[in-house]
Amino acid sequence: MDVYGIVGNPVGHSVSPPMQSAGFADREIDATYVTFEPAEAEIERAIDGAAALGIAGLNVTIPFKQDVFELVDPDPLAARIGAVNTVAFPDDGPPQGYNTDAAGVTRSFDHHDVAIDGREAVVVGAGGAGRAAAFALADAGADVHIANRTVERAESLASEVDGATAGGLDSLADAVPSADLLVNATSVGMEEDTTPVPAELLHEKLAVLDAVYTPRETRLLREADAAGATTIQGLWMLLFQGVEAFEIWTDADAPIEAMHDALREALN
Ligand code: NAP
Repeated sequence: MDVYGIVGNPVGHSVSPPMQSAGFADREIDATYVTFEPAEAEIERAIDGAAALGIAGLNVTIPFKQDVFELVDPDPLAARIGAVNTVAFPDDGPPQGYNTDAAGVTRSFDHHDVAIDGREAVVVGAGGAGRAAAFALADAGADVHIANRTVERAESLASEVDGATAGGLDSLADAVPSADLLVNATSVGMEEDTTPVPAELLHEKLAVLDAVYTPRETRLLREADAAGATTIQGLWMLLFQGVEAFEIWTDADAPIEAMHDALREALN
C-alpha cells in the first residue's frame, strides 16, 4: 500500500484526507492518505524522514509551503512562485516539488467554461495564493493586474509576472470595471460580511473566483452574483489543486466527481 499525506501545523482541519481517499478508492489504487503535524523546527527532518520511509507523496500547507520549497527540487512553475504545496518522492533522486494552487485557479475557470487567454484578470492579494494565481493566469494568456493592501508586495510580484501591473486596493476602482476575471486571493471574506472588493465595481461580464472556502458563499460571491457575474467558490480551487496533485502522484486521470463529492461533504 502506498502512503500519502498532508504536512501542516495545525492540520486537523484539513479536508484533503477525505478528498484524496475518495480519489484513490474510485480509481482502485491501493493507498492511504494521512495527516502529519510536525513542529515548525522539525520540517527538514520530516521531509527527510518521509523520503527515507518510502512515503509516496505529500501535500504541504500552512506554515510550511516556503520551508518545503527550500528542501526539494521545485519544478519551474513552483520555482517562480517560490512555494511548494505538493511533493512527489521518486524512487531515486531528490523529492520533487510542485505548486498545484496555480492549476487550482486555471482549472477552476476552465471547469466553468470561462476563457483565460486574452482576457483581463485582476488578482487581489500578493501572498502565497496571489502569487500562484498571478503566474497561472499570466501563463494562460491573461493580462494580469495585482491589487494588494501592501502595494510594495504587489509591485514586487508584478515585476516577476509577464506584463503584469500593480497597485494598492484603491487601484481596483480602475481595474475591475474593465476586467473579465477577478480572483480574491486574500483572506478577506473569512470573517462574516467582509469583502476586499466594493460591490459597486462588480458587473455581469465578470467571472469571480474566491480562494476563500470557509464560508463557501462569501460576501464577495453573493455581491458578484447579485451583479450578474459568474461566481466560482473556493471549493473549486481546493478541489483542482488536489486533483492536480493526485494526477502528478498517480499518472492517472483524477476522478473529479468522486473527489468533489467527498470534499463538499467534508466542508459541510
Ligand atoms: P498569505 O500568504 O498570508 O497572504 C494573505 C493575503 O491577504 C495578502 O495579500 C494580504 O495582504 C491579504 N490580506 C490579509 N488581511 C487583509 C485585510 N484585512 N485587508 C486586505 N488584505 C488583506 O495567505 P495565502 O496563503 O495567500 O491565503 C490567502 C487566502 O487564500 C486564505 O483565505 C486561504 O485560505 C486561501 N487559499 C485557498 C486555496 C484554495 O485552494 N481554495 C489555496 C490557497 C489559499 P498584505 O500583503 O497587505 O498583508
